[in-house]
Amino acid sequence: MDIDAHAEELASALGEDKEEVKRDLENLLEYSVPIDEAKQSVRRKYGGGGGGGSGPTSVDIGDIGPDSGNVTVTARVLTVGRRSIRYQGDDTVIREGELADETGVVSYTAWQDFGFEPGDSVTIGNAGVREWEGEPELNIGESSSVAMESEPVAVPEGVSVGGERDLVDLRAGDRGRTVEVEVLEVEQRTIDGRDGETTIHSGVIGDETGRLPFTDWQAREAVVEGAQLRMEDVYVREFRGVPSVNLTEFTETAPASVEVSDEAPRVTIGEAVGSGGMYDVEVLGNVLEVRDGSGLIERCPDCGRLVQNGQCRSHGQVDPEDDLRIKAILDDGTATVTAILDRDLTEEIYGGTLEEALEAARDAMSREVVADDIAEKLVGREYRVRGHLSVDEYGANLDASEFEPSDDDPAARASALLTEVGA
Ligand SMILES: [Zn+2]
Repeated sequence: MDIDAHAEELASALGEDKEEVKRDLENLLEYSVPIDEAKQSVRRKYGGGGGGGSGPTSVDIGDIGPDSGNVTVTARVLTVGRRSIRYQGDDTVIREGELADETGVVSYTAWQDFGFEPGDSVTIGNAGVREWEGEPELNIGESSSVAMESEPVAVPEGVSVGGERDLVDLRAGDRGRTVEVEVLEVEQRTIDGRDGETTIHSGVIGDETGRLPFTDWQAREAVVEGAQLRMEDVYVREFRGVPSVNLTEFTETAPASVEVSDEAPRVTIGEAVGSGGMYDVEVLGNVLEVRDGSGLIERCPDCGRLVQNGQCRSHGQVDPEDDLRIKAILDDGTATVTAILDRDLTEEIYGGTLEEALEAARDAMSREVVADDIAEKLVGREYRVRGHLSVDEYGANLDASEFEPSDDDPAARASALLTEVGA
């Protein structure tokens, strides 16, 4: 490990600022103090174990806050995901996942292999607490201890031990997950990775609950179209606004038997927006408004972006191409989303082709008539919309693959809702 890695680990364990700890370490190293001795000394300065002072206190996980300092917890290991990280040319394997006791769940990062597996009950001594995206996270490092417990630690109701999840339940940031899926689409790509040109596979996987995009950074031969696989130790990150499943060098695959649903999971708009984006979902909502930029539009022939007065933002004056599109604001009472419909779906709703729309615009001497016609058909009515829901700084968009009048019986839906809320 280099000085940066030592400082990071020590700062995490102590719950102190990394730059300050690094400065202290560097000062000592300048006087040729050996690194181990330097770390002991810095640890003593900040009162973190290794002699005298008050040790970390045993706490319930539910009581841990970002400012808890150093703690000792007795917990069940829920998940263990491995990841290789690089500090200035040095590769280190870290372990990340979740721990739980009866009072709650907390994420952790372990900077070395303490040998625990999902399902183990352990007492972790002197773990540092740091804040990660507003939540406390435990850092288990060199100055921490891990002891196995023989009595299993209870976990909150509804919390599962192990990383098995359905695709619909995966969220960006999840680590150490296990899925059983069918590979629905694969393509090979060459990217500029941290070790130069690398071949990767990316595509779409599905199970009974949904579909998600994936990337296999190892381009395994087993990951081919139609393969049904158990994938152990994958992580999830956001890619283009939706969760994406990542297979790493630590992921193990094995044959599995999987049912794939043709249907997308039905979610509320609020749920999908709140989760930060969902791939291939179905929502039901009322069209509040057809936004500007709907109906007949003009696109740049080079980049496909919208042009105004023949001007593309990237390509200047161009000879634009006509297209049809709808941007409709949908509301289901929980949140709103802008559904974006391509030319095919727009032609269906408009009830005419692009050529017919252009003719109507010429007759009326206004391109607006097409959007007006579309608004008259859509606004105030309920639609079932399937597609990819992504969230960015401007709001939530639903890239529609299906857009149909709702055929749900309102009475049946009301009673289903009452059952759901337990009325
Ligand atoms: Zn352009």
